[in-house]
Amino acid sequence: MSVALRLLNVAKEYPGDVHALRGVSVDVDAGESVAVVGPSGSGKTTMLTVLGTLERPTGGVVEVAGRDVVGASDAQLAGLRAHEIGFVFQGFHLQDPMTAVDNVATGMLYTGAPMRERREAARAALERVGLGHRLTHRPPQLSGGERQRVAIARAIAKGPAIVLADEPTGNLDSKSGHEVLGLLQQLASDGATLVLITHDERIAATFPRRILMRDGEIVGDERG
Ligand code: ADP
Ligand code: MG
Repeated sequence: MSVALRLLNVAKEYPGDVHALRGVSVDVDAGESVAVVGPSGSGKTTMLTVLGTLERPTGGVVEVAGRDVVGASDAQLAGLRAHEIGFVFQGFHLQDPMTAVDNVATGMLYTGAPMRERREAARAALERVGLGHRLTHRPPQLSGGERQRVAIARAIAKGPAIVLADEPTGNLDSKSGHEVLGLLQQLASDGATLVLITHDERIAATFPRRILMRDGEIVGDERG
């Protein structure tokens, strides 16, 4: 089994003596599905942004798909994210003036694929998340659950090996949240590595592995 994500003694300090991560070590195998739980401020989002190479750690080793991230250039990291990592956020992070197709196609900009190819992949991804009938709708015309499905389509359109989701159901009612969660788990069962942050113990309980964080440290790692 190859390791998709590796943190070795990772620290992240912010100015003002904030120790968001204090020596975190964890391996996530390719194809694994992991829920990350813990109180607000425990470092969950920081860990996800470091795993996703959006932030560099202040200490330790980070490897994504076997590649060292800490020594990589910004351009190399942008390339890695463009091809290998899909992000889903609590607040969707969609562009309101753009149609669903254009939101997804624009999300693939850094793959370097031509516009026509990106729009085709965008359409296919939107169909995969059940939004084939909403291609030209704009986010303000969509429900919360539909918006998050557009965001999931954007994350998966490029066929990433890794999907990182930060409280993706946090802004949704329970029915929409359930659908979004089902979609993400479907992706994972198709072979992607999924790391998902949640506050919801019931959601975490549906994952085969759960990492518990507290005060910038991993205090539990449960399977089964
Ligand atoms: P969680 O996602 O578990 O709620 P975070 O990773 O967002 O926790 O935050 C961990 C700690 O780091 C908190 O104390 C938070 O205030 C702090 N923190 C997060 N991001 C920043 C930042 N950009 N600058 C300063 N402090 C930050
Ligand atoms: Mg957070």
